Amino acid sequence: MPIYEYVCQDCGNEFETLVSLSAKKNPPCPNCKSIRLRKKISLVATEKGGCGTCTSRSSACSSGGFT
Ligand SMILES: [Zn+2]
Repeated sequence: MPIYEYVCQDCGNEFETLVSLSAKKNPPCPNCKSIRLRKKISLVATEKGGCGTCTSRSSACSSGGFT
């Protein structure tokens, strides 16, 4: 499961959260409950062929990846 970082547009709170691949909605800000969030994707290896939870390209990763 990827970890997404968000910045709240209303209170400026930064937080990160695990987001299910089936979840399409942003989570609300845990501080002010706003849903006006800016997503920061910095940790997820979505463009590197990795599984999203590690940087391994091999089958050594136990998460199952996106295949
Ligand atoms: Zn907020």
